[in-house]
Formats: sequence, structure tokens, C-alpha cells
Amino acid sequence: MSGIHHVTAIAGKAQRNFDFYTRTLGLRFVKRTVNFDDPGTYHFYYGDEAGQPGTIVTFFPWEHAAPGRGGVGQTHQTAFRVPAASLGWWTQRFTEKGVAYEPLEKRFGESVLAFTDPDGMSLALVGVPGAEKEAGWSNGDVPAEHAIRGFHGVTLLLDSAAKTGGILTDVLGYKEAAREGSIIRYQATATPGSYVDIYEAKGFMTGRQGRGSVHHIAFRAADDAEQAAMAKRLIEKHGMHPTEQKDRNYFRSIYFREPGGVLFEIATDVPGFAVDEPVETLGQHLKLPAFLEGHRAEIEKVLPALEQETVS
Ligand code: ZN
Repeated sequence: MSGIHHVTAIAGKAQRNFDFYTRTLGLRFVKRTVNFDDPGTYHFYYGDEAGQPGTIVTFFPWEHAAPGRGGVGQTHQTAFRVPAASLGWWTQRFTEKGVAYEPLEKRFGESVLAFTDPDGMSLALVGVPGAEKEAGWSNGDVPAEHAIRGFHGVTLLLDSAAKTGGILTDVLGYKEAAREGSIIRYQATATPGSYVDIYEAKGFMTGRQGRGSVHHIAFRAADDAEQAAMAKRLIEKHGMHPTEQKDRNYFRSIYFREPGGVLFEIATDVPGFAVDEPVETLGQHLKLPAFLEGHRAEIEKVLPALEQETVS
């Protein structure tokens, strides 16, 4: 199964990020943990009921992060799927909640509602016919019928699509599916999380990562063996230098910066988010990997307070 595993971005205030993704967008908070490489910082995971690959958006909330700037070499937009008939409901919700959004537009024949999160991250809801038949999860804020059904995909703003497209198709399990204007659409086998659109923008200004920017995009590998085969292909056929495998507790990962400048990760589908707490109570407690458990008291002291019952 190929496709997006998760998308990780940089946020500002932890509480504001939590409230927006769980309350305004109605995603499930599937894991409250820390950045394993920087344990004084939270790492929040939001997704569907079980945090399936293809539904997970994650954040490093850095209270004092400077705002990012969009541009070449960056993820331009991250899009979620909703039932096509739900876009009117969402437009109304964004108006009521004061969320900045753009007029509906058409992209590859689908209706797209572009909006931004409180840190300026560029997001969209794409109306997908038939998505209403897929199970939606609700915490009571967003009714299940209108709930987000995972990722639609991401749009990368790149100087040139060729090399990145080569890695998508040769290593990550994508096929070129369509072209529209300056956008080339690549499609994977998994739903949700099927699409990577490359917006070729030769000569545009280079972006700068910060608050509201995507930090990296993770693609799926079934297991360690498939990941190792992908790493070998990246090295031998594409001149990439992926990192050693890192254990992220919920998946195992390698990273490389693709030729267009975006940080890519390949993450295993296994073991998943229920490895250290039951699905029923995902996200309710701060979870730490074994190597940090001995430092729990110090870590809890430096992390900002998080009120998980806040109602917006
Ligand atoms: Zn990641």
C-alpha cells in the first residue's frame, strides 16, 4: 500500500493548536508525546479514530517560533478529504469560528475549500464524492457525517518536478495521474492520502521554514523490509542519502531531503498508535518512549500546560 503516512508541521502555542485540530476540525487527538529529538517540546498527533496511516497530521508546537514563509522548496498546501456534500457545512462552520478561508475553487474536477490554521498553515478541504460512505469519527464537535476522512494529499511548490517525480514513481509507489496548468498530480494506491501534486514554479522565491510550515512529509512502507528496499533504491538509483532507521515508537523511520528541497520520511505502518495505550483512550495521557521515561518528572515540568477539555 503506497501513500502518505503522516504530515508534520510547526505550530506556535500548544493549546491553540490542540483546540483548532480537535475542536474546529474535529480530528481525534491520537497521541500526546514529546519530540524524541528535543524532549522539552511536545509532539502532538491528530488523526482518525485509530490514527491510521493516511490520516495523521502532527505538530511540534514551539511557543516562540518565528512565522514561516511559503515558497519554492516547501509544502504549499495540505488537503483533507470530506464528503462532497459537506463543503457547504464546513464553509458555514469556518464563518462561525472566524477561520480564514478562500472562495471554493475547482482542481482536477474536485471542489476545494482552502483555509488557514491559527499559525497560518495552508490547508484545504477537498469534496470527494462517495466519502460519505466511509466511517467518520466524531467527538461531538463535528458530526460524523461531515467529519474529515483523512488526507486528500499535499501540494509541493518546486522549481522543477522531474527528479522529485522520479522518486515518487520509482520508489514511493506513485503514478503520474493528471496534469492541469503548472500542476502535475501523482497518485498512490492507498486511500486516504493518495495524492502528491507538484506545482512547478520556476523562479519563485524560496520559502523559509517556521510557524505554519510543514516540517516533513512521511510516506508509507508496510514494514522494515519494504523500507530497506526503498532506501536501497534511493541510494542506488537516485543518489539520495537516507538516514539510518530511527525508532519513533509508533512507526520506524528514515529521512532524506528530496531534490526539490522538501524533507521526506519513509515510515512503517507498524506498530501503530495502540502500542502503548488502548485505542479507546488514545491521547489522554502524556506518553514517553522507554528511553525518556526516567526523565518524566523533568519533562512534565518544562512542557506547557494543556487543557484537554477546553471547549471553543
Ligand atoms: Zn515524521
